[in-house]
Amino acid sequence: MNQITDVVIDLDGVVYPFADAFKQYCVRNLHLNPKTLDYPTRWEFYEDWGMTRTEFDAHVLDATVNHGLYATMLPEYHADYAWQVIRELKLTLHIVTFRPPEAHHQTRRWLDDHKLTPDHLWFPTTSKGDVIKEIGGKSIAIEDNVDYALDMQRAGATAILRTQPWNSSCTELLRVDNLRSFAQVINHLTNEEYL
Ligand SMILES: [Mg+2]
Repeated sequence: MNQITDVVIDLDGVVYPFADAFKQYCVRNLHLNPKTLDYPTRWEFYEDWGMTRTEFDAHVLDATVNHGLYATMLPEYHADYAWQVIRELKLTLHIVTFRPPEAHHQTRRWLDDHKLTPDHLWFPTTSKGDVIKEIGGKSIAIEDNVDYALDMQRAGATAILRTQPWNSSCTELLRVDNLRSFAQVINHLTNEEYL
């Protein structure tokens, strides 16, 4: 097999608990009752929280600009381990996120603060598949959005879903439950040709 050269990691729903951060914003700043804000089970979870798409987008922007939406939570538990494995294997680490451009500065700082600085931080405006093509090496990617994962797979990456309630029905892709398992898959694939 072709040796993996690059690791592509999504942030929200993989490294950063976006749903928990946004819920905190909704409770503190919109004064919504936390008992009515169930953990998302679908991509349009804001509808279950009583918001239209337009309202959701406006709240995300306000939360980003005025309340540090992307810098209030800790990283997912296994992020340190995954970074360590990727560094030891000397692979190039990319973060690729569709966060709004307003989140760029706090995203970079949050990654630095938690010692999760990547080699490259991408805020694509077209598709994640285009980023895979631009990287050009042999990439393995972790993602919680089925469409983005399939897009990267079509572009040549090995795309792995981070299991979340909103992607549980997808059977087309490999999946892992956390970043520790993802790191173990990388380790396995990287060492395979020496077995
Ligand atoms: Mg995501």
